[in-house]
Amino acid sequence: MNPLDAEAIVIGAGPAGLAAAHALAMRGVKRVSVIDRDDEAGGLPRFCRHLGFGWEYTRRLETGPGLARRLLHALDPSRVTVMTRATALAIHPGPEVEIVSPDAGHVRARPRTVILATGIRERPRSARLVPGRRPEHGILSTGQLQQMVARGVAVGGKRAVIVGTEHVAFSVLLTARHAGLRIVAMVEPQDRVMSYAGAGWFARALGVPIHLSSAIDDIKGSERVESIALRGKNGSTTLPCDTVIFTGDFVPESALLHASDIDVDRLTGGPMVDQFGRTGASGVFAAGNLLRAVESSGMAAIEGDRVGANAAAYIQGSLGWNGGAAHVSLGDGLAYLVPQRWAPVENRAIHAQSLPISLRATADARGRIRLSQHGRELWTSGPLRLRRQRRIKISPAIFANLTDGAPAALTVSAP
Ligand SMILES: Cc1cc2nc3c(=O)[nH]c(=O)nc-3n(C[C@H](O)[C@H](O)[C@H](O)COP(=O)(O)OP(=O)(O)OC[C@H]3O[C@@H](n4cnc5c(N)ncnc54)[C@H](O)[C@@H]3O)c2cc1C
Repeated sequence: MNPLDAEAIVIGAGPAGLAAAHALAMRGVKRVSVIDRDDEAGGLPRFCRHLGFGWEYTRRLETGPGLARRLLHALDPSRVTVMTRATALAIHPGPEVEIVSPDAGHVRARPRTVILATGIRERPRSARLVPGRRPEHGILSTGQLQQMVARGVAVGGKRAVIVGTEHVAFSVLLTARHAGLRIVAMVEPQDRVMSYAGAGWFARALGVPIHLSSAIDDIKGSERVESIALRGKNGSTTLPCDTVIFTGDFVPESALLHASDIDVDRLTGGPMVDQFGRTGASGVFAAGNLLRAVESSGMAAIEGDRVGANAAAYIQGSLGWNGGAAHVSLGDGLAYLVPQRWAPVENRAIHAQSLPISLRATADARGRIRLSQHGRELWTSGPLRLRRQRRIKISPAIFANLTDGAPAALTVSAP
């Protein structure tokens, strides 16, 4: 099959895109193409050799490359073509996808549906306003470290400090140790470990101290990092080190959205979608970490699977295209919600195909979450302990209470 002559084009061959392609093929779509700008399919997990990938989707204990292989091998080659070194440049109405690849050149494909699954990118140090010198060597982002380790390139240092304590930071801890670095400390501006408490215990059990409520005041060194100065609750400390790894500052890889005139949510930096993963552009869906940074690979695959099924239903005419959807705005204390829009549906069973809810708080707090529309309260949670950077678990079924496409609101109130 000519990969560009497809009924469905999935952009991004990470867990979300591969699971979406699988779901499309399993539901009878015969010509599915997955394109990825990288040399190999598999997305970010390809670069993380430690265990802990895909659990929610596969219920297996797997490494990143193991999950990538499993998702690729699950694809039926008679229906799904994977094309690497192919970059999507823009989506035009139709939908029409503008693609560049060394094999195909600069082409436009006209599938029935497009699924965007382009994942995340990392913000550079300059965007994080970190003071100090800019030594030539020894300052790395998560992605740079991963790629060096995966490609067997020597990191060059011996003693590293990891800046950040969210889930990804502990993956970095394992990858850096695998690369032969001794982790001299982890640094966190907040007063607690942002990942689960167990992750902090694990790091400390490995002999890695965690400096909480601490910020970098200075990075010293000209050719290579020599030390960092920290400002914390108890004054200033200098940590000798030759490598600083910044983690956790991820944003959706949204370049394609901006080139395509697809609505972007100011809060997530990803596309606005409804519960079926539909963006505002006809026939264009989105799934995975592009929706918001960052959930686990298993969650990205579940989203891909559901959105792939919905896109197949759209091709087959069983998922109507109804412009009306209630936009859910957020009150103080809530950082973002995905999906942002909820289309009214008559058959409540269809909510089983909804995207899982990604809802996060801006700060640690206790409270109840309320959903209202037309000034009426439609649902109230029990008392909740909200934790910054953690997903708040609520069921998509509560949004079935929305009566029509009028604006709705989620707010936090006292417990
Ligand atoms: C350092 C680190 C450690 C992590 N550790 C874990 C862990 O231990 N366990 C876990 O479950 N999850 C972990 N994650 C999260 C996990 O990697 C992601 O949840 C998962 O990869 C998201 O899948 P995705 O398909 O949405 O995006 P990705 O895996 O990022 O895939 C997106 C793909 O889109 C391609 N792409 C982007 N733009 C274009 C374009 N314009 N044209 C063509 N192709 C394009 C990219 O090349 C990429 O292959 C970690 C993430 C990081 C950064």
